[in-house]
Parts: sequence; C-alpha cells; structure tokens
Amino acid sequence: MYACAAATEEGARCRNMVVEVVGEMCHLHKGGKVAPRPDIILVKFNLNPKWAEKFERLGVPRKSSLSFLKENAHARQAEKLGRDPYRYGRPVADSGVPVFGKQGIQEVSLFDLLKELLDRYKITDIHLRPRRDEKMDVLVVSLMVSLSPGEEVVLSSSASQELLSFLAVSCWGYCHVWANPPSDDGRIVHTVHSSHRAPDSKPRVRLRFFDGLWAVEPVP
Ligand SMILES: [Zn+2]
Repeated sequence: MYACAAATEEGARCRNMVVEVVGEMCHLHKGGKVAPRPDIILVKFNLNPKWAEKFERLGVPRKSSLSFLKENAHARQAEKLGRDPYRYGRPVADSGVPVFGKQGIQEVSLFDLLKELLDRYKITDIHLRPRRDEKMDVLVVSLMVSLSPGEEVVLSSSASQELLSFLAVSCWGYCHVWANPPSDDGRIVHTVHSSHRAPDSKPRVRLRFFDGLWAVEPVP
C-alpha cells in the first residue's frame, strides 16, 4: 500500500492511502502534479550499544538529544497545515505523510537504496544520538541534494566500509518512510527510519528511492 503520489496545494504529499502501485494517484488527484522529490533525506537506524560504540570508535560524533525542541517544531508545523499532529497515534507529533501507511514496511533491505542515494545525494552530517527513551542510540545520516563546496562530510574509508557492511548484512524488522511538507525555507525533508536489525534474517523486500516516491520490491 502506498500513499497517493500527488502533491497537495501546499506542496506536501497527499496522505490518502489508496494505491497498490507506486506512482498512482487518488481520485481527487488523478492526472495531477507529482509530489516533489526531497532536498534532504534523513536516514536513521536504531542501534544497540555494541554498534553505537563501534561507530563512535570510527569517529562518528555523538550529539545530545534535541527531540524536545524538534517535537515542538513539528507540532507547530502540523497545526499550521491544519492537520492533527497526533493522528497516527505515535508518541511524538509528526506532520509528515507515512508513505507506506501506519504499519510501514517489514523485513527490509536498505543496501541498494543507500547506494542509489549516494549517487544523487551527498552526506552532510552523520552522528549518533540517544533514542527518546535513552535505551538505544540512533545513527542519523543526513543527505542533501546540492551543496556548496566544502559542505560534504568526508567519512574515513574505514567508517564508510563499516557502514556499508553493517547495511549489507542487515535485514531491518521495521522501516518507516515519512514525506514531510515543505519546511519554512521551502525545502522538502524525507525521513527513513529503520529499527529491529536482524542480522540472521533474510530480507523479504528492498526499499527503492523511485525518484522520491519510494517503493518496495521483492528480494529475488
Ligand atoms: Zn491524492
């Protein structure tokens, strides 16, 4: 199940969950404008302490949690757009559209997606921060479509090797993709948040970028 692929008048993605095929639009939007590609993609992974330590040793910086500030910013933005920020029953307000519905997708590989994204986007930031309950850490990789020279973060080759091997062998139990409405500066931010890494399971599907509409394909 996918969210309708159309852009709303505010330039957000339509939140009607109607279609089986990526790229289709709901009856309100048939033949309309396609939702915009993201300018920024935040790829987040929940990590256990062992992996968090490993990334820290490889030089990935740790940041304190700004979730309180962020939550307020999201709630304000959602109210401005006339949407109920708590509509999806998540503990934290979210003004975005869940591209794969409330349940998200399960047993997912992100390996091909990451390669695909790195062809088109540049890494501008990578850091660890505590999850809201402080029991786990979240690895956050920020990708931006166009940068001024010097803005790109150059990872050490051992850090990028580790990151790729971490992803290569990973089946993620749960993955949610959020298409957020344009921020105050007009930029579109999408979030891909994965959790429940299961290194011994075989992924059932893989996530693909599909020009910012996002799609899943069965793993052959
Ligand atoms: Zn629609």
